[in-house]
Amino acid sequence: MSEPILYIVATPIGNLGDLSPRAREVLDGVDLVAAEDTRHSGRLLAHFNIKVPMISVHDHNERQRADTVLERLRAGQSVALISDAGTPLISDPGFVLVRAVREAGFQVSPVPGCCAFIAALSASGLPSDRFLFEGFLPAKSSGRRQRLEALVDQEPTLIFYESTHRILASLTDMQAVFGGERYAVVARELTKTFETIQGDTLTGLVEWMSADPMQQKGEFVVMVQGAPKQEASIDAEVLRILNLLAQEMPPKKAAGLAAQITGLKKNALYQALLDQTQ
Ligand code: SAM
Repeated sequence: MSEPILYIVATPIGNLGDLSPRAREVLDGVDLVAAEDTRHSGRLLAHFNIKVPMISVHDHNERQRADTVLERLRAGQSVALISDAGTPLISDPGFVLVRAVREAGFQVSPVPGCCAFIAALSASGLPSDRFLFEGFLPAKSSGRRQRLEALVDQEPTLIFYESTHRILASLTDMQAVFGGERYAVVARELTKTFETIQGDTLTGLVEWMSADPMQQKGEFVVMVQGAPKQEASIDAEVLRILNLLAQEMPPKKAAGLAAQITGLKKNALYQALLDQTQ
């Protein structure tokens, strides 16, 4: 690699066949690989016969490691950042490093690939035009329920990461907060031998998982259908606007203008005016 670039390289989330040819080429060509866990990633690199010096970059040393990476870039070297699985920075370390490298004026270039929640969403059958990725929920039930309560009325699909230790407790909290009838999809062990993608109401999922402890093992993405679209209503403020306009112009025109102002339907506003005068 001839230029000093920090590459952000996605690695597999289970199936090693998912490492892209370009990711392999970049990892083979850089002067240094910064990895979350050098022992774990050492096995990945050894599998692909890639022999490059490594340093660890994790939540507790990211600031100091950013200085090390900057020194290497200033010396004209290139560096790749990888995490234990998937895309670095997605519920993984790297934000502090990327920010520091960009602020220092060096190029940061992504080498895209696996990301557990994108893979899960793509196969879930849930709306994917708008989604909220929430990452990991708090470990304690009280904090978890508080976070979930703040999401109850959100319309986009909600996406969470969860571990084997808390999957059942988290689903149970979701059932309590979102209601047992809300539809959700659990994606477990994607790209691995026991890959399972199960969709049901939250009550159905809790029952299914409680009945089979094997389904509680592994790594999980939980996706919850967003809240139903809120129908805008003709409230007191809308009526105030409508009546002010109706004092100045004929009812149909007032309803048309009020529709433009409020985004509500002209016919419904016109009907509301008629209802008041009856
Ligand atoms: N950076 C990763 C990515 O791009 O998805 C995520 C890292 S985060 C520390 C690990 C979490 O991702 C796991 O606890 C699980 O929620 C999810 N995850 C990772 N691999 C997965 C897989 N094969 N199947 C389902 N979920 C997975």
